[in-house]
Amino acid sequence: MTGDHDEDLDLAVRLLAGTPTHEGRDPLMLRQWALTAEEFGSRMAPDPGPVRVVEQDGGLAAGLLARYRSRPPVVEIYVDTVDRAERLIAERDWRHWFPVGSVRAAALAHERAHAWLHHAHVRAEFKRALGHTALRLGRRRLYAHVAGADELAAHAYARAACGLGRSPLLLTEALAAAVSCESEK
Ligand SMILES: [Zn+2]
Repeated sequence: MTGDHDEDLDLAVRLLAGTPTHEGRDPLMLRQWALTAEEFGSRMAPDPGPVRVVEQDGGLAAGLLARYRSRPPVVEIYVDTVDRAERLIAERDWRHWFPVGSVRAAALAHERAHAWLHHAHVRAEFKRALGHTALRLGRRRLYAHVAGADELAAHAYARAACGLGRSPLLLTEALAAAVSCESEK
């Protein structure tokens, strides 16, 4: 594994650690969950079917890059945020990781992954992989949801599907920092 992969994993662990319900959890457990979520996400094969995409403005003000709405199924892409992210990649010299146009492609892949993770059979398989036991009833185990794990799986899927050099999580975190910094000025 490369150093870049370790850095992405550190980011993923930080995301989990900052997610409500995970305060005070064993860092090794969080790391294991992050690894499992990344592996699960990068191996997912969501429905290849067409998704309706709606482009709109106002994403920077709302803190949104894209989002999936299930009824009716549609992916909203916020073009102003996509443009800002593309500029940020140029400013940071991250083009070798995120080629031109990859922000939009990664956002679509990310939302497709979220839609896929909504399917009951996928959810069940993901929970089993994470192995967070909520309850044991005799020989039966009930698995709990791991908050933040869907987000990590969606980023891992987007990275794999778009062939990116780093996780889009790096980009979204840098973008959030840049945008909040600019809005304070
Ligand atoms: Zn997401």
